Amino acid sequence: MEKYLNILQNYFGYSSFRPGQAEVIDTIDQGENVLAVMPTGGGKSLCYQVPGLAMNGTAIIISPLISLMKDQVDGLHALGAAATYINSSISAGEQYQRLMAMQQNRYQFVYVAPERFESGAFIQALQQTNISLIAFDEAHCISQWGHDFRPSYRSIVPILQEIGGNPTVMGLTATATPEVIEDIQALLHIAPANTVHTGFERKNLSFFIEKGVNKIDYILSYLKKHQGEVGIIYAATRKQVEHVYDVLKGKGYAVSKYHGGLSEQERQAAQTAFIFDQTELMVATTAFGMGIDKSNVRFIIHYAIPMNMESYYQEAGRAGRDGEPSNCVLLFSPQDIHTQKFLIEKSDLDEEGTQREYQKLNKMVNYCRTQNCLYSYILNYFEMGSAASSVSCGRCSNCLKQGELEDITEEAQMILSCVKRMRERFGASMTAKVLKGSKDKKLIQFGLSKLSTYGILSKYTEKEITERIHFLIAEECLSAEEGQFPVLKLNQKSMDILTGKENVTMFIQDVPAVSETDYS
Ligand code: ADP
Repeated sequence: MEKYLNILQNYFGYSSFRPGQAEVIDTIDQGENVLAVMPTGGGKSLCYQVPGLAMNGTAIIISPLISLMKDQVDGLHALGAAATYINSSISAGEQYQRLMAMQQNRYQFVYVAPERFESGAFIQALQQTNISLIAFDEAHCISQWGHDFRPSYRSIVPILQEIGGNPTVMGLTATATPEVIEDIQALLHIAPANTVHTGFERKNLSFFIEKGVNKIDYILSYLKKHQGEVGIIYAATRKQVEHVYDVLKGKGYAVSKYHGGLSEQERQAAQTAFIFDQTELMVATTAFGMGIDKSNVRFIIHYAIPMNMESYYQEAGRAGRDGEPSNCVLLFSPQDIHTQKFLIEKSDLDEEGTQREYQKLNKMVNYCRTQNCLYSYILNYFEMGSAASSVSCGRCSNCLKQGELEDITEEAQMILSCVKRMRERFGASMTAKVLKGSKDKKLIQFGLSKLSTYGILSKYTEKEITERIHFLIAEECLSAEEGQFPVLKLNQKSMDILTGKENVTMFIQDVPAVSETDYS
């Protein structure tokens, strides 16, 4: 291992290996295939770069992230290594030249996208090349159980035989369920014992769920309290990105936006501005961030629920790569579940695939609803039933909650019967006014002050009543129809509560959690 440590120190200027790196490199050194499962920012690239520099021959790195290849190659050039990438972003002539140089063994590193393996010329060139190792970056893309399955990735597996020479194979991923890990092991012939799993723990990240808040107000208030911090706001749709971006821009924030509807040029410019700190905020869809190495991101806010836990943890994990404390906030509203369901329906998955996505979305929704430690939920999801299950992180919104679980069945019944008496035609704010017994003009005009439920929750403030209504919506004890002004409707669960078949308990907080909004 001495020679690898020397490379780490002399080339990279780092004093010691991070957890898992030495084991991965050691396994490669013994000529055995290896799988590295490490958190984002854990230092996966070094796992192939160090042996690649030490070994004779060419390391082939397969990555679905074309945008990242150039940065990696530039980084290696800066270290004095011979590296290149061959992908569709360069001309056919240039591709040919690089292929020729590759088979003359002139590179230590060649980065390619999985699609490259569909080219006969590339395979032939590989057969001529003295390959030191083949690394599958983002290896979860090879598994159909993964959240980002790429068939082109999987079809490389049989081609490995054709290449010959029996090169050492390496898989690297930051997000893999046990199922996906098994799949990668089987496909890439990696012995389970040669899997280096450093866990996904990111002790510097604090997770928060905010339910029933006005999202824009929340974000503005968060930014006010965290001035000058760099952060990413992830939204589910292009439209949401545009909306949040416009608001923040209007308030004078240095903000960029990124989504699939923008031109390649616009996206590149937005990314560059953010990476080089010209803007401190990025509002984006999930299209943004794969492979972005920006270490000083202090917070990730999810404007809406992501499609599954894998995406969530990958996106949230872009905060705090420098190890400094960072926040990951998810703004949950049940209506957003419909957006994700719509996206699942729209994708061209087969029946089985659709069901799988629904199950994953369910797990994501459960994350938003759990009353237990959010971080242990995440660890359990990825590690399944390990010792982590009983751990409380002490820093997530659930662990920080102080207060008591109270039975609010009676109040819930009052709210629900008020919704019923208002003929399911109004939103949360008017309903709260009626329950409070407000003298609001419109309320009186509509004749709502004559209802028997008028003023029955007058001991609470309107804000407290609204909170309870939103809680009932989050727990699906009450439905809020989609639209700009969601109208409250009763559902089956509402009926069960009204008829006393089901109780409602709510955590009533004494002290606001750290990320609590104040609407001042
Ligand atoms: P990953 O691919 O796992 O997300 P990277 O390989 O991009 O992570 O590494 C994240 C950051 O950590 C990079 O800036 C990298 O240079 C740095 N890094 C990696 N290994 C070490 C180490 N042993 N000591 C210090 N810094 C390291």
